[in-house]
Amino acid sequence: MEINELNPDILSVKPSALRVFDHEISEDPDIVKLTLGEPDFNVPEHIKQAAIASINANQSHYPFYWGIQELRDAASTYYRDKFGYQYTADQIVCTVGATEGLSATFKTLFRPGDGILIPMPAYPVYKAMAGINQLVPIMIDTTDTDCVLTPKQVTDAIAAHPDVTVRGVVITDPSNPTGAVYTEEQLAALVPVFRDNNIWVISDEIYGELTYGVKHYTLSKWLPEQTIIINGLSKSHAMTGWRIGFVFGPAGVIDQIAKAHQFEVTTPTSIVQYAAVEALTHGQNDAAAMRKIYEQRRDYLTQSLDKLGMTYVAPKGAFYIFTKIPEQCEQDSFTFARHLAKTYHVGLMPGAPFGDPQALRISYASSNENLHAAVDALTKELARVGSL
Ligand code: PLP
Repeated sequence: MEINELNPDILSVKPSALRVFDHEISEDPDIVKLTLGEPDFNVPEHIKQAAIASINANQSHYPFYWGIQELRDAASTYYRDKFGYQYTADQIVCTVGATEGLSATFKTLFRPGDGILIPMPAYPVYKAMAGINQLVPIMIDTTDTDCVLTPKQVTDAIAAHPDVTVRGVVITDPSNPTGAVYTEEQLAALVPVFRDNNIWVISDEIYGELTYGVKHYTLSKWLPEQTIIINGLSKSHAMTGWRIGFVFGPAGVIDQIAKAHQFEVTTPTSIVQYAAVEALTHGQNDAAAMRKIYEQRRDYLTQSLDKLGMTYVAPKGAFYIFTKIPEQCEQDSFTFARHLAKTYHVGLMPGAPFGDPQALRISYASSNENLHAAVDALTKELARVGSL
């Protein structure tokens, strides 16, 4: 059997560079990792108890493929109260994490050859999904506009690709890897250009509950008919491994996304769905304590990077800082990150997979002790190259 006769769209996609790098540095038993976007908090106790109760109640049967009614009802209320989403339970599909929601959405909305706009720096999964679905990813550099997409960048990108029918855009708000958060005005300004060009908006709002001193807005407020929202409990409730997410979309489209989901995964695990009902009915404040700690860590890191003269995009949400590698240092992000890992036993994520090969992403979903170790390593390295 020949491997090269397998589906070329899968063959051409590389395994996640983030996971590969994280795996590589994990071989060092002393490594301090600020690499993955993984909350370092435990799942809130009341949610764990709900999962245990669900097991004991033998809730072990196939749930309805859209997700159990109670969970879709709870999601409808929870996200309306939090962010003003206007979706009834029959406009919500429960997915295996946000990732499966993204996958089912990409598969449903687009046809091979369609163009999809990806504002950069970006979460690398979008480009991989574009590849698997034979789309044409059009990367838009937003570094000059504080990593916030502008209407002009959209029209310029469309004009620069006259042979491609642009049918989608991904907005990640708050952003991984930069922590940028769109203001209400910035989102509203994008509405006409998306509407006039019939562009589907995939609005990845997985970090919506993690904003610091600013409010999270949703594009669905202005463009409900052409926005698909991706959300879930991975970050807000520190439930990454439980794999529960949600897709919200207009009637008609969401039914099609539900089908793509059904034939890929059937449904998320029954027990997790019952536990998620608990998260959404009694866990409205679960993110608050984590948010406070993330904010303190963010402040520590920004102050430390300022002292080192390192520049970054002002992080207002999520739990990342995207910082430029100082000029005096090795500029290739993989080489530099490997050097930091080898010399100081500190793992920071290379910026290249996010679209900036001269940057690093620091995740502050990690203890203060680990953050101190990272700052210490950067300080020593900058002193070594004579940049301090
Ligand atoms: N979207 C963004 C922007 C992310 O950063 C992540 C995870 O890091 C995901 C989606 C995936 O979320 P989940 O673990 O719920 O699949």
